[in-house]
Amino acid sequence: MIQEAQLTIDLNSLAHNYTCLRSKLKEDTALIAVVKANAYGADGARIAQELAKLGTKHFAVAYTAEAVVLREANIKEDIMVFYPQLGQLERIIEYQLEPVLYTLEIVKAFLLLLKQKNLKDYPVHIKCNTGLNRIGLSQEDLIFFLKEMDTTSMHIKSIYSHLGASENPKPCPFTQQQINAFEIVKQTVKDYCPILPKFHLLNSSGVFNYPEHQLDAVRVGIALYGFANQAEWDLELRPIAKLSAPICQIHRVKKGENVGYNQGWKATQDSRIGIIPIGHADGIGRQYGHGVGNVQIVGRTAPIVGNVCMDMLMIDLGSIRCDVGTEVILFDKNTTAADFAATGNTISYEILTGLNSRIQRVYQ
Ligand SMILES: *Cc1c(COP(=O)(O)O)cnc(C)c1O
Repeated sequence: MIQEAQLTIDLNSLAHNYTCLRSKLKEDTALIAVVKANAYGADGARIAQELAKLGTKHFAVAYTAEAVVLREANIKEDIMVFYPQLGQLERIIEYQLEPVLYTLEIVKAFLLLLKQKNLKDYPVHIKCNTGLNRIGLSQEDLIFFLKEMDTTSMHIKSIYSHLGASENPKPCPFTQQQINAFEIVKQTVKDYCPILPKFHLLNSSGVFNYPEHQLDAVRVGIALYGFANQAEWDLELRPIAKLSAPICQIHRVKKGENVGYNQGWKATQDSRIGIIPIGHADGIGRQYGHGVGNVQIVGRTAPIVGNVCMDMLMIDLGSIRCDVGTEVILFDKNTTAADFAATGNTISYEILTGLNSRIQRVYQ
């Protein structure tokens, strides 16, 4: 019987997704497994260990602290840090991580550090902005970097960019512009670099939508966890996570009584209300409730009612036969995190990465 809120991770599904993605890639296209944000809620260290067993040679995280956790969990493979901050560069070196350099300031600071430490051939990656306008060197900065700066202490392993709408139906003029801009980046690099770095552009949806642009590597996150941002592509994958919790109390409320903070729900008839030990502190936000968002109990559907509390939420049990201890499913393989997210007007990424670490992780 389920004792508390838990996220059950199906490692066979993880293996299925890994194999599925790998099968879409040429043999010499590297798969960079993105395990940032705790491997999209599943637990960074554990998932990285599993992926390493499956053959993953390259990992990526967003911030330095996430990579340190992986090193401390004995992950020996390459770890790329997408968004290192100026104050984190010492730790990058201390833990032998591979920083992505995305501004000239970061490049300068890192070069200085390498010089101070008398290091040579330190592996780095360069991020170029091709239209997402989030992070990355402009074309001008890239030329300045390649032409004017002494980069002999670095080994530029890869130069990449990121698509802003890789899941949109083709043809997509914006994505095409980004692809064209990246072609110019590649040409610029070829003009200045005697030894070519690897080039990459695609995230998960990109692998499904633009396999012809897989280049030397792809950076896949959400697809490893079972989603590719289009129903048709999702069919090839298996959601790895199930979020469930037990009913911890059942109230019988009379018609006219109310439930939860600020009288969030009022019974229009005598009702049974189930209390579930998971709330907005766990990542089930206040956009749910008031009839937005359902849960599954013994194969039936019950609505979330009233305001979601910090540690708990309430559901209207209607005539569902259940008891204290009965498992309530928020999402699983059938009603997926993407479905649950859509009812709350968000995306699978936000629901998965928002799951608090206090939710018990169980692997099977
Ligand atoms: C998060 C991230 C990815 C992975 O994206 P998915 O859509 O989850 O596959 C790839 N590249 C960069 C730069 C990222 O920040």
